[in-house]
Amino acid sequence: MTRKLYYEDSYQKEFTSVVTDCAAVTDDAYRILLEQTAFFPEGGGQAGDTGFLNDCVVFDTQEENGLIWHYTRHPLKPGTRITGHIDWEKRFDRMQQHSGEHIVSGLISRHFHYNNVGFHLGETEVTLDFDGPITKKELAQIEQEANRAVWYNYPIEITYPSREALKKLNYRSKIEIEGQVRIVTIPGIDICACCAPHVNRTGEIGLIKLTGIQAHRGGVRICLSAGLRALSDYREKEQNIKAISVLLSAREKDASKAVEHLKQENYNLIGQILQLKKALIEQKASAVPDRSENIIFFEQDLDSDTAREFVNLLTRRCTGIAAVFTGNDKTGYRYILGSADKDVRPLCRQLNEAFRGKGGGKPEMVQGTLHGTETEIRSRLL
Ligand SMILES: [Zn+2]
Repeated sequence: MTRKLYYEDSYQKEFTSVVTDCAAVTDDAYRILLEQTAFFPEGGGQAGDTGFLNDCVVFDTQEENGLIWHYTRHPLKPGTRITGHIDWEKRFDRMQQHSGEHIVSGLISRHFHYNNVGFHLGETEVTLDFDGPITKKELAQIEQEANRAVWYNYPIEITYPSREALKKLNYRSKIEIEGQVRIVTIPGIDICACCAPHVNRTGEIGLIKLTGIQAHRGGVRICLSAGLRALSDYREKEQNIKAISVLLSAREKDASKAVEHLKQENYNLIGQILQLKKALIEQKASAVPDRSENIIFFEQDLDSDTAREFVNLLTRRCTGIAAVFTGNDKTGYRYILGSADKDVRPLCRQLNEAFRGKGGGKPEMVQGTLHGTETEIRSRLL
């Protein structure tokens, strides 16, 4: 068994030890065993520690039957004396998230009697799954209480009760495990079996923010941010709201109302534009002499509904084929051809062939796209 220094002091960042075993895992990965280590192995939803053994990078730590394996890119000979450094910022951040999770899960267990059925402590996201529903209002109350537990700076106690004492103890994660059970207690908030390192006092968590909640497998999934992650989240949101407020010339607290107003304004403008386009095509169509033979229009910008409407208006005024092209010589054209009594499909096929086009439709109306200049297309049609 490796001596687990992280259980003796979860704040130990540096230690000395001796290599007892080293084995190749793949072509460029090795795993190293030490007499003692401060590297916490993956467990309880928390990832394994990273850091250095002398100059050798440790990219992961795993436990197997009480042995702690350090995963590296280089081998170290058994008998080598090493100084180990764990990536302390990463570890402390994980301790903050994990202790924060215990507070929130403890409070939810006390208030709602729900179980934490899933915990993931990722590099950017921490999620907690519970087996029952929680409303947003209830979540806000839990968040408030969780932060109160931080302000009161409770000690986080680690104990190893006897089998007899465990039987009588009411704690979370009560499953039959072989060997000694490690109990993490936050007085008045939570008692839970857990293998991970925690902060000594709740005040070190700094801040607990519950950033999201969604329905998940008959219960809920809650997103949590603690410590620097919560502060970074605040900063990011603050930057965003400040930028939005400047863009809209609105006070920060009125920003969402200003966006709503902007959306409504935009909706009204789109309606006006559609009306103007309709008036424009009606005017253009009425200027065409009645009973003209073929009619061709080239428009820079017409949405497909308006273009189709335009063709409908034109077919009523011509005896041949009405054609509307939308776009420009550079990027190509969308086209619609229509006729009151002629089959427009042969012309459609000719255009597609001549101008790398595609499209089709019914005898009375076709639509498609093609590539060519206005001059070329006109010469083909007239
Ligand atoms: Zn835990």
